Parts: sequence; C-alpha cells; structure tokens
Amino acid sequence: MSEFDFLTGIEDVPPMPIVIAPAPILRQVTRDVRPEDMAHLRAQLPGMFSAMYKAPGIGLAAPQVGLDMRFALVDVAEEGADPAPMVLINPEIITDSEQMAAREEGCLSLPNQYAEVVRPEAIRVRYRNLAGDIIESDADGLLATCIQHEMDHLDGVLFIDHLSTLKRNMIMRRLTKEQKFRRR
Ligand SMILES: [Zn+2]
Repeated sequence: MSEFDFLTGIEDVPPMPIVIAPAPILRQVTRDVRPEDMAHLRAQLPGMFSAMYKAPGIGLAAPQVGLDMRFALVDVAEEGADPAPMVLINPEIITDSEQMAAREEGCLSLPNQYAEVVRPEAIRVRYRNLAGDIIESDADGLLATCIQHEMDHLDGVLFIDHLSTLKRNMIMRRLTKEQKFRRR
C-alpha cells in the first residue's frame, strides 16, 4: 500500500482542464494547505496527475487547475522509466546553491512556449508529503528546476517573469495569437 495507489489505471481518469495564461488565478499567491483541506486535495490528485501525464508534463501546480492551494505535483522520470511521482504540500526552499544553471523551460499554462531560464542549480526543499510527514530533500538538475518552476506558480509567478520584458511580451503575444487561432 503506497500513497500513490491511485495512480493505478490513471490513464482512464479524465484529466482536469488546465488553466491557460493570462488567467488571473495564475497570478495569485496561493494559501497554505491546512489539515482540513487534505480530503479535498486528495480528491483532486487523480485528475491532476492524469492531466500532467497526458499533456505530457513533468510538473503541475494547483493554480494551474484553478485551485487556490499551496501544493504541486512533480514527476521528472524519463519516458519509459518507472514513474517517480511527488506531491509537495506547503513547500519551502530552505537553501539554494550559488551556482546557477540555465535550462529550457515550458509550461502547460503557456502551451508551445519555451525559453531558457536561469535558476540555482541545486536546492534543499522542505514540504509535507501525502502522509503528512515533513520531508527535507536535496534536488539538483532537472528536478531542482522543475520544483522551483512549480513553487513559483504557488506565488503567482510564471517562468516568463524570469525573462526580459521584451522576451516576456513576445511570448505572451505569440500565445494570445495561437489561442485565438485555436478557438476558431
Ligand atoms: Zn508551469
């Protein structure tokens, strides 16, 4: 019995719809998850994991499915490898490395938009897992980037906010154009 038993048969679970920028909820600071929120949080997980895996994406934060709650999903396992799901509840970065790394990022809320973002290469993060335990873990490389990207979402920050105004505006214009085209 594991915390992630609900992932069995996840491919048959309808994915929750993903909120696309510039939706206002993507710009809100989320509120902390309290013990009494856990049942509601758990109920959202199958639909959220389904949405993340179907996209496919390696991370999904609660505001991206319209939830004002401080938690995010991450799974950076390579395609074909065993899944490595994580649910980070009320995460905080305790330390980050001086060494920075540039990595290309995308976001399910900014479909088809990619840019290189510079962030600390390694972090130590503290969060609660689904069992309610406080976990401290070290992450580097892709996992560190992904966790930082998802934690940004919990503060209403998008990866484009780490770019120059020029690049950010360019991406938002391109996104708006593509979304209009898609709706026709
Ligand atoms: Zn994102």
